[in-house]
Amino acid sequence: MTAPARILVTGGAGYIGAHCCKSLARAGIAPVTFDNLSRGHRDVVKWGPLEVGDLRDRGAVVRALIRHRIEAVIHFAALAYVGESMVRPTLYYDNNLDGMVSLLGAMAHVGVTQIVFSSSCATYGVPQSLPIDETTPQNPINPYGRTKLFCEWMLRDAAEAGDLRYVALRYFNAAGADPEGEIGERHTPETHLIPLALMAAYGTGPALRVFGTDYPTPDGTCIRDYIHVADLAQAHLRALRYLAEGGENLAANLGTGQGASVLEVIAAVERVTGRKVPVSFEARRPGDPAELVADPGLASVRLGFRAHHRDLDRMVADAAPWFAVSAKELQR
Ligand code: UDP
Repeated sequence: MTAPARILVTGGAGYIGAHCCKSLARAGIAPVTFDNLSRGHRDVVKWGPLEVGDLRDRGAVVRALIRHRIEAVIHFAALAYVGESMVRPTLYYDNNLDGMVSLLGAMAHVGVTQIVFSSSCATYGVPQSLPIDETTPQNPINPYGRTKLFCEWMLRDAAEAGDLRYVALRYFNAAGADPEGEIGERHTPETHLIPLALMAAYGTGPALRVFGTDYPTPDGTCIRDYIHVADLAQAHLRALRYLAEGGENLAANLGTGQGASVLEVIAAVERVTGRKVPVSFEARRPGDPAELVADPGLASVRLGFRAHHRDLDRMVADAAPWFAVSAKELQR
């Protein structure tokens, strides 16, 4: 299969971006990371050059596209905390929307026409039915989800008006870490379930707060579709090839099609670590739908993508060493 040789990866210093850079490099594609390091980490940029810059600085993006003779873009760079977006919505609109406007302007300026965009299941809001396929109405219930939806609309409009071609990938819950142990999951602050449960198990964080036990689900806790970050990375590679081979503009879910509840995730963490996860049961977290599970069929048909690392224990086991290491460091 064909694929462009030089890719600009915005947000390549972030969790999913860095895993994607590794997969690109493995496939013989050169990733150039463009990242302002506001949330990303310099030390995970290991598979190609790093351009430190802000996407909203269009001149800087243009220079990077030209200097590295970029052929296509994968766009991860965005603020991505639902809770923070509820408290600081304009920060999210400024960063995520202005970043996209600037990026698309820079790409048009230099004639780069292919983009893979990291969208989110948060664009669906509270779905009327499950599993969620791409015909499910998109009614986001928080500013983060709205910024992702507006970015999808920008792509659609720009594609209709000009030469742009895109794949928008709507991730469900990214989980796990590089199975070879070269990079892990690291957010500051950490708000995600699996890292927080691991930190609670290893004693490097407080007891895990379980947000809501009265949801209309079998055990009363929220259900999510966790997808291994290494699988997400592979999906981006497939999306690039799809565009290079002339594939039509596409928005597709990336999930496994299997759901796991918060209590099931905790049980997996306990099995993998052999430790108890201390928990406190708390009220629901605002903005959390009860259940989000993907219908992954479209990505399978159009991109030939299927998640391989589907086992929850496997995802937790790949993430765990990063948190075990910090536990050992604390004990020194
Ligand atoms: N969750 C929880 N306690 C936490 C963090 C998350 O109970 O400290 C729950 C959250 O309510 C949701 C699920 O775990 O149902 C996954 O949350 P996460 O923040 O990891 O991802 P999100 O679904 O918000 O993208």
